[in-house]
Amino acid sequence: MSVINLKESEVQVREVRLGSITGFEGTAGQLVQCARSGSLKDSVRSFSQCMGCSSINAFCQLCMIQDAAVINHAPVGCAGDVFCFNFVYRVGQMERKLPPAIGRYFSTNIQEQDTIFGATQKLADTIRAVYQRVGPNAIFITTSCASGIIGDDVEGVANDLAAELGIPVVACFCEGFKSKIWTTGFDSAYHSIVRKIVKPPQKKSNKVNIINFWGSRIFDELLNPLGYEADYIVPFSTIAQLEHISEAAATIQICPTLGTYIGAALEQVYGVPEIKSPPAYGIAGTDQWLRELGRVLDRQTEIEEIIAKEHERVLPKLREYREKLQGKTAYLTAGAAHGHSLIAVLRELGMEVQGAAIFHHDPIYDSGDIASDALAHDVNTYGDVPNYNVCNKQAYELVNILNRVRPDIMIARHGGMTLWGAKLGIPTLLIGDEQFGFGYQGVLNYAERILETLDNKEFVTNLAKHSTMPYRKWWLEQNPFSFLRGDLDVGFY
Ligand code: SF4
Repeated sequence: MSVINLKESEVQVREVRLGSITGFEGTAGQLVQCARSGSLKDSVRSFSQCMGCSSINAFCQLCMIQDAAVINHAPVGCAGDVFCFNFVYRVGQMERKLPPAIGRYFSTNIQEQDTIFGATQKLADTIRAVYQRVGPNAIFITTSCASGIIGDDVEGVANDLAAELGIPVVACFCEGFKSKIWTTGFDSAYHSIVRKIVKPPQKKSNKVNIINFWGSRIFDELLNPLGYEADYIVPFSTIAQLEHISEAAATIQICPTLGTYIGAALEQVYGVPEIKSPPAYGIAGTDQWLRELGRVLDRQTEIEEIIAKEHERVLPKLREYREKLQGKTAYLTAGAAHGHSLIAVLRELGMEVQGAAIFHHDPIYDSGDIASDALAHDVNTYGDVPNYNVCNKQAYELVNILNRVRPDIMIARHGGMTLWGAKLGIPTLLIGDEQFGFGYQGVLNYAERILETLDNKEFVTNLAKHSTMPYRKWWLEQNPFSFLRGDLDVGFY
């Protein structure tokens, strides 16, 4: 279990804190076994095609707090992804029927001279300008490789300006060079929120924290009849709302890759129990998750009634889908916990999972409880998964494997990965909303979309005929893991 230390301004990166890795080839069962036995090793790539950055993952959470502003203390190029989050923010506002507002994101635009003379004055000036211009209830400062390398005292500036302006001004340390695992940025954002925004509880409330991205409000229907209220955080929350999340009755995570740190922090620091179970994907996972929720909220009887009613509704339809999908093969690529959840959904539908390219692996989450290990749940419930590759979006590995396994369908969670399936003539399904597959209904949702995608194979067949591939026959005939060599021991517990 990682120990949450709010006195530290920075959270440790996942490699150090959890022993997380970005390189592995084998089966899912082998990976789970290595993680459990403390023998997990990170296989280092001698060639890396691309990399994500913690900074943008921190930003994607902080930038959607409705009444906060975010300053990226960085060269302006680090904010290259920001436009995409303004789009997500605006679409999310419409879905949640919030008044339209553009995001409040700024950059200090660190330049060459600043890297020599320092950029703290520029940062202080920017904070004052942002305060004058948009009047936020809090300002977050996300750091960058440049600000980290020159050693700017961002924490000192933040504390001085917080005292001057009378609002929280919070440093969020998320320099991209510090971690190969970009989800470390989620932890940085949550650390800054728990450290400087959340207040100690005054009373207990009937709210349940839902740590999620920006998906639909699917938890209202479940929690309201149980006498609880869903509090969706962090996107679209307010500073006042975040101040009170320590008073909640429980914390639910839509995805432990996203919320491992804040779930554990709220439990360890303020006693808010975290639901520790594989996320509710697939019938078996949903049963398990609901029972744990019922236990924590003291609603076991009501939960058993919900399970019985939902089984009656869903299982006959599921049997029909299984007949249609039995034996169909799938390959998937996604972030860690969500990828594990999708394996459960596909196996529940009777499909054969031929392999997966999953962006990283956390051998354990911050709670230290193995009950949340969704990959172990997959292996124990549905059997092993071959061709399980921990791969941080290295397209060259993905294409090579896809070309070998040639599944009936490729499932992807992130845009930018789907084109490889389509170029090979493999029907490819992109589902960006992680809540689409959640719960009992989620299994049916996926079944319908998979069948639709398989029905439309002609499109990718034609696309493959008319597209070219940057990877030559030479590479496609090599071992896909030719560059995944040189084991680096990161075992720590
Ligand atoms: S890796 Fe460093 S330089 Fe690149 S975007 Fe992230 S913070 Fe900026």
